[in-house]
Amino acid sequence: ALPESMRRIYGELLGNDRHFSGFLDYAEQKRGFFSNLIGRPIEKLIRDEFSGKICRNADVGAMASMTPVELAYALAIIRADDKYSITPPWVFRNYPKTEEVIHRLREIPCAEECPYCREHLNAKKQLKKIFGFDSFRTYDGEPLQENAAVAAIRGKSLLAVFPTGGGKSLTFQLPALVAGEASHGLTVVISPLQSLMKDQVDHLEEAGVADAVTINGLLSPVERADALERVTEGKASILYISPESLRSNTIERALVRRNVVRFVVDEAHCFSAWGQDFRVDYMYIGDFIRRYMELKNIRQPIPVSCFTATAKQKVVSDIRDYFRQKLGIELELFATRATRTNLHYAVLHVETNEKYAALRRLIAQKNCPTIVYVSRTRTAVTLAEKLVSDGYAARAYHGKMSSSEKVDNQEAFISNKVQIIVATSAFGMGVDKSDVGLVVHYEISDSLENYVQEAGRAGRDQKIDADCYVLFNDDDLNKHFMLLNQTKLSIGEIQQIWKAIKDLTKTRKNVTASALEIARQAGWDESVRDVETRVKTAIAALENAGYVERGKNVPRVYATGIMTPNMAAASDMIERSPRFDAQEKQDAKRVIKSLISARSRSEAGNEDGESRIDYLGDILGIGTERVENAVQRLREEGILADSTDMSAYIRRTETENRSKQILSKFSSLESYLASKLTGEVQELPLKEINDAAVRDGVSGATVRNIITVLYYWTIRSYVKKKTNEEDKQVWIFPSDSKQTIENRIARRAEIADFILSYLFEKSSGTKVNEREEALVPFSLLELMDNFKTRESLTNDRTGCTSDEVKDALLYLSKIGAMNL
Ligand code: ADP
Ligand code: MG
Repeated sequence: ALPESMRRIYGELLGNDRHFSGFLDYAEQKRGFFSNLIGRPIEKLIRDEFSGKICRNADVGAMASMTPVELAYALAIIRADDKYSITPPWVFRNYPKTEEVIHRLREIPCAEECPYCREHLNAKKQLKKIFGFDSFRTYDGEPLQENAAVAAIRGKSLLAVFPTGGGKSLTFQLPALVAGEASHGLTVVISPLQSLMKDQVDHLEEAGVADAVTINGLLSPVERADALERVTEGKASILYISPESLRSNTIERALVRRNVVRFVVDEAHCFSAWGQDFRVDYMYIGDFIRRYMELKNIRQPIPVSCFTATAKQKVVSDIRDYFRQKLGIELELFATRATRTNLHYAVLHVETNEKYAALRRLIAQKNCPTIVYVSRTRTAVTLAEKLVSDGYAARAYHGKMSSSEKVDNQEAFISNKVQIIVATSAFGMGVDKSDVGLVVHYEISDSLENYVQEAGRAGRDQKIDADCYVLFNDDDLNKHFMLLNQTKLSIGEIQQIWKAIKDLTKTRKNVTASALEIARQAGWDESVRDVETRVKTAIAALENAGYVERGKNVPRVYATGIMTPNMAAASDMIERSPRFDAQEKQDAKRVIKSLISARSRSEAGNEDGESRIDYLGDILGIGTERVENAVQRLREEGILADSTDMSAYIRRTETENRSKQILSKFSSLESYLASKLTGEVQELPLKEINDAAVRDGVSGATVRNIITVLYYWTIRSYVKKKTNEEDKQVWIFPSDSKQTIENRIARRAEIADFILSYLFEKSSGTKVNEREEALVPFSLLELMDNFKTRESLTNDRTGCTSDEVKDALLYLSKIGAMNL
């Protein structure tokens, strides 16, 4: 069915390869595959057929003679207009040079700026198209942001040192999206904080980019599976993960299936023991990249970009040395030397009980937008309250607030509704307020780097004179020193871990053990703060010295899904069951008891690990195997569910199902939008549609909500969405008929509605937190069973599939009706 020219191209490229020639001969005999196709040479044929789709100056002739099969595969993927198509992993495996060929055809901007390169690889053009900005940022007059973005587009490895708020994310997102478009490539962004990853994905979503995904520990199993699927199926071109995730086999497998075009390391100062934020896990990044290249048989180093705001010389050289030694790559440096001349620093020695008075004096004196930094969440809240009760317009901000509260308070400060924000160091990321004239450190920062970043949020506007004060007394420092000393690891402790590992490996070379098990083996007190981190750090030191090698993490097995109402009932069932012998009965009871108490603790938010089988084995002192055995029997007996266990915060008051109100708003908006679909490619003028919806009385209509719905439609492949670069208009390409889309929406809405009613009922009597949310545990199986029961009362349908339930859950969490 191919057009003649493509037949000829494949014939020429593959005809001499014995893996393909048999088929081609057959096709020729059967159908006259090549008949009537004579004339132009292959190179010209390719250039004509792919004009505007590949760089005009790429050396197609050389590729056709040196790597014809790879070129054929490359052209096949380029020809697939579907952005989400990816080359099958086995092709990359057997013909590893395919990635390089695609790269040379589509990703290297030529000096002459041919039509393809001008259109697709021009940084400025893409800046406008993707982010809507007219120009790149400059530092001290130097166009460093553009230079770094262009270097990345050209495939260089680099280290960019820009100040906080300087626009580092955009500098790597832009080349990543360009590469996603050009070669369906994936950029892996390694970032130390889960909340930062989510923020960035959300930010991109607001900008209309549906190509970014994060996989991190905050995701529920359903969200995690969905994110993984989007990566492996090619629907993501940026993946945010933590350095620790690189030790996961699942992540490695997912990445191996994709063409990873670049690794980005955000907050790269974590590499350096000279920065305060040294993270052991960063040390594994280089090993991972090397292993990835080996697995995929790639010779050309995969480029790396590092980003940090820390300009300290030692930090910069540590980062560059690391990549030179591990991977033999040289990071080109893009660093600003810009200094801030309009900031004035002062340290005031103040006793603790006089701090508040001093703060009020400073505020009164300066009377301008002010950030007050404190070190603890609680202080942020109480200090803000105190200021308010004394007549100041102040709000608090800290990492443990709900994201809506964070946004509210940040917005109030940015828009000058309140003059003062009292915040922990969580505040400031991505905040770009130019008229802050005063930053007061009510409590001193824990490092000089953090201090400089926080104080640096004053006086963004060079024209204002800003003051930065530290209110300090000796006790403050003592607190920090104490914490610092606690985190220090001595040589003696490293030796204890070495001894423990030797004991564990007495009879074999490889051993799998949790950090806690190793700590216990070393005779450490496991209640010590950060014991896991300390063990991992010690192992990293041993690894560095060549004593051990730490491999991939072993999947964590969780024992979850308690099906009995309480301990007494569980105990009863265990006693009566013939599945357990006396010893096993005892084990099973202890396991279920600790699971039940972990569940009641989970409201406090520290459930992590408590249901992990290795931990249970450790805590109960009976070893992993016996726990596994007990869990298996508990599952067989139906005391533990053999299914995914989850919980959700649903929004409710005493009487009202707030979650349902949100759903019903979105449902009517979604039906309204669906009714506007023509079934063909169409323009969707957001603002006009929104105005019309408001006129028609659709209660949930806002531009923001419309974008949310479109985002969901895009990631679920109902439609494809493109934004026109000139007028920013949104175009919709439906993947299914209008009727099919409407059916999917209606079906999902029905199930979502059921879920919320069910969970609401289930949550009655549960304590509602200050954000009016109640935590409800449930499982997929439970939802499916109850849906079926409810349905059988009204009609004769046969329930729903787990995919349908998952879809509804993801939707509910996307629109903010619940928090999975
Ligand atoms: P950081 O360097 O601290 O990581 P971010 O990447 O979070 O900073 O960027 C801070 C803000 O600057 C973001 O809101 C981003 O949209 C904005 N920004 C970045 N580059 C530009 C640009 N060229 N023009 C306008 N705004 C920009
Ligand atoms: Mg950043």
